[in-house]
Amino acid sequence: MRITREISSSNIDNNTFELYLAALETPCKFQKNQQLCEGKPVLRRLSRRDNSESTYFIGCTNWKIGEKYHRFMHISSDINIELLRNLFDA
Ligand SMILES: [Zn+2]
Repeated sequence: MRITREISSSNIDNNTFELYLAALETPCKFQKNQQLCEGKPVLRRLSRRDNSESTYFIGCTNWKIGEKYHRFMHISSDINIELLRNLFDA
């Protein structure tokens, strides 16, 4: 049982590293005056009124309210949010 748990937790960590690297390698598609956005990926939290559960996504540091098509990457449930946060904070 112990081995199984270690494998599954390291899979989650691997998924997290892969998502982080993919976020770094994926340019933001937002354009303004025919210039591509140079914002960096950032971990953000969707706030919900009912406070039920925090939802995280990878957004863009240059995003402003009302601007569409900036980087937006969904974070699935097989991701270690704490690890991802540490990676982005590093
Ligand atoms: Zn952007």
